[in-house]
Amino acid sequence: MANNYRNGTSNRSSLAKTDRPLSVNSNSKPAVKSKSFPASGPRKSSPASLGSAAVAKDYAGVPGRVRVAVRLRTRNAEEMVADADFGDCVELLPELKRLKLRKNNWDAETYEFDEVLTEFASQKRVYQAVAKPVVESVLDGYNGTVMAYGQTGTGKTYTLGPLGEEDPATRGIMVRAMEDILAGVSLDTDSVTVSYLQLYMETIQDLLDPTNDNISIAEDPKTGDVSLPGATLVEIRDQHSFVELLKLGEAHRFAANTKLNTESSRSHAILMVHVKRSVEGRDVAHSGEIGNNSHMVKTLKPPIVRKAKLVVVDLAGSERIDKSGSEGHTLEEAKSINLSLSALGKCINSLAEGSAYVPVRDSKLTRLLRDSFGGTARTSLVITIGPSPRHRGETASTILFGQRAMKVENMLKLKEEFDYKSLARRLDIQLDKLIAEHERQQKAFENEIERITIEAQNQISETERNYADALEKERLKYQKDYMESIKKLEERWKINQQKQGSDRIMVRSEDDCSDVASNAKGSMASIVGELTEVKKLLLKETQLRKAAEEEVNNLKIQVAQWKRSEASGNTEIFKLRQMLEDEAHQKKKLEEEIALLQSQLLQISFEADETRRRLDRGESGKIPGGLDSLTQVRQPQLKDAGNGEKASIAKLFEQVGLQKILSLLEAEDADVQIHAVKVVANLAAEESNQEKIVEAGGLTSLLMLLGSSEDETIHRVAAGAIANLAMNETNQELIMTQGGIGLLSTTAANAEDPQTLRMVAGAIANLCGNDKLQLKLRGEGGIKALLGMVRCGHPDVLAQVARGIANFAKCESRASTQGTKTGRSLLIDDGALPWIVQNSNNEASPIRRHIELALCHLAQHEVNAKDMISGGALWELVRISRDCSREDIRTLAHRTLTSSPAFQAEMRRLRIDY
Ligand code: ADP
Ligand code: MG
Repeated sequence: MANNYRNGTSNRSSLAKTDRPLSVNSNSKPAVKSKSFPASGPRKSSPASLGSAAVAKDYAGVPGRVRVAVRLRTRNAEEMVADADFGDCVELLPELKRLKLRKNNWDAETYEFDEVLTEFASQKRVYQAVAKPVVESVLDGYNGTVMAYGQTGTGKTYTLGPLGEEDPATRGIMVRAMEDILAGVSLDTDSVTVSYLQLYMETIQDLLDPTNDNISIAEDPKTGDVSLPGATLVEIRDQHSFVELLKLGEAHRFAANTKLNTESSRSHAILMVHVKRSVEGRDVAHSGEIGNNSHMVKTLKPPIVRKAKLVVVDLAGSERIDKSGSEGHTLEEAKSINLSLSALGKCINSLAEGSAYVPVRDSKLTRLLRDSFGGTARTSLVITIGPSPRHRGETASTILFGQRAMKVENMLKLKEEFDYKSLARRLDIQLDKLIAEHERQQKAFENEIERITIEAQNQISETERNYADALEKERLKYQKDYMESIKKLEERWKINQQKQGSDRIMVRSEDDCSDVASNAKGSMASIVGELTEVKKLLLKETQLRKAAEEEVNNLKIQVAQWKRSEASGNTEIFKLRQMLEDEAHQKKKLEEEIALLQSQLLQISFEADETRRRLDRGESGKIPGGLDSLTQVRQPQLKDAGNGEKASIAKLFEQVGLQKILSLLEAEDADVQIHAVKVVANLAAEESNQEKIVEAGGLTSLLMLLGSSEDETIHRVAAGAIANLAMNETNQELIMTQGGIGLLSTTAANAEDPQTLRMVAGAIANLCGNDKLQLKLRGEGGIKALLGMVRCGHPDVLAQVARGIANFAKCESRASTQGTKTGRSLLIDDGALPWIVQNSNNEASPIRRHIELALCHLAQHEVNAKDMISGGALWELVRISRDCSREDIRTLAHRTLTSSPAFQAEMRRLRIDY
């Protein structure tokens, strides 16, 4: 039943018929499925490839219909007087979210909106109903749009603009949105930047820099994102500076409009707020301490940033401008003033009707708002109306616009990207920390090892000393004791001897027997006593000896223990060494992975630049391998590519440093090598880099790659780079002395791919143009290599071969004229003539032109005439002198034919009329 009210009476309506709930926050599906804003095909989601640095997860998006609120302005002083006798032309039913537009006293049409804001609605309420959900979305990482549409004087600017400096309650949507944004971000990790612009007569002016009065719109061909690279971007850190910025913008807007002799109601004001937030808690590396890092790189994910944009648009007044030019404008100007607004109306109609074609490119406003209607942004529109019955027509058309906009369905998408740069930065920092920590540990280990070694040595030598001392002492003591014992025994023995002698005398005389007997008894007793004494002494000494031996044994055990502990100290040292080696190994692996990441990053940004340029030039969809921009030896495309390329190359140098890039040419990982050689080739295509590359050894590395790599891509890209470097005379000599001809010939002989052959032929062709290198080049098989490449038959390759031959012939001719060369042309010696003759009328003009020149050069020297005649070259020369489209070549051929006696004679013989 609600439908009956929504669009006036039920049978009359052709306007919005919706059968959906209408709360502002609802995302439910609408009945009418609108086409997306861009004219062609369904919009792609932000690409999932790493190449575009978008987050790998592909967000399917959330349906989000454009929300529309209607706001009624109170009667102003003039209306109070002028319309005093009439009622308002509208009646609001805010609880039912309906609006009645009176046709006359007895008939009215009813419309339903997402929000109906009466003349009493406070600014705060309006903000909360219209803009707050959008601002919250932006903080969550979705693009958002808030736009005011309506007749001049109905309150668009009042809704969006007031700064509320005198009365905070009057603050408009812009100021309140920024307050919420600043409260929602953390300025340590996030950033908020602002641009403020005016669009008038299809010209975009920078309200933050009045001199910047014609800003162009850029579109990312991949994502379709629209941006204004020329607009001033100011970083906002607090509310005060934002308010000042709005004031500045307003002042510039006033001045600009005075200068253009127009009113601000004729122009659109556009505020763009870019919110970049880093997403926390999703990156395991944040918590990664330095220890335990062996698998760190594997688990590292780049931090994620959300880059959303809030666009607030205060549209020009929607009333029709009098096309008679009554405001001092010509008809053309009047059309142009209206263009953007009427284009917006057309786009919204198309979207609302689900039509296949949406004329988004018809105006700058619709291009700028491409994402806001039918795109990925959350969009909220406030239409402003006045109460006066005199403006019923304009009010009706405003309501109609709002009703149609309600049918537009957007597909909200999260704007997330991987932040590779900050990952690389963080990895660098971690690497440095690891290196420092590693160095500290290594030094500490070394000190500890030294200390243990010294201590052990000291203890060993002290023990040895003690042992030796103790041994010596014991030895001396035993010696002394032994000597003393011997001495005592000797003395006793002597005494005994003497006693025994006197006994014998006494026995013989057999005198005084009893006396003798008692004497003998006494002496026997003393001998026995002494013997016991000696035995005791011996026993004691034996014990002492035992004790000493035990002592010695103890000392020996101690020494053995020391030796053991020294050995265990050595195993400890060994273990520490192994740990150190492990650390170093891990560090190397980390560095390699960083290098890989960096090279991928470089390649990604290169390819992105490349693709962007290509798409800018209209070569849609083709993603080159970066190669096609490399050469064309005589057509330095990079000169045309303009500042973008130069800037990105300069950036490359800054970021990575040439040495590092060159070192990657020797990387073990083939992918890294390919990336690196592509980067070097891109650099080499820029003349200003060539000297630096050669100085840093790049040419040598590239030549080595030709010899060492088996990868066709590397061959192709390296040969392209060498071809570019070979444009310079000094480099040509370097290439020759480093065996370049041999390497290029081998590459040519093994290559199948025409593009590789084109690069190699281009390089040799450049070398052919050096007067000093003629003999060496031919001696090392350069001409043979060139001729060998014609087997491939590709016109690009043939053109390079022909150029080489022409270069060679020119130098040779010069040398012959100067008398430094005699004898037949080396080209003829090497069998080039048949191919030259065969292709001298080739339909591809670059091939033909070079060959014609080569023939003229050869023909100038009489020594070549015989071979040329027998090889059929005379006919070609005659043809060239008659038909060649280039006058200088025609004249040269003619002159040569008339001045050569041999050719003259042959022509007479053949009766060629010349
Ligand atoms: P617009 O930008 O649509 O041309 P303005 O915002 O300049 O209109 O409003 C015209 C006049 O009406 C201004 O003086 C403004 O202060 C006043 N006005 C508009 N809307 C309201 C409102 N809701 N309450 C009070 N005054 C309003
Ligand atoms: Mg206004």
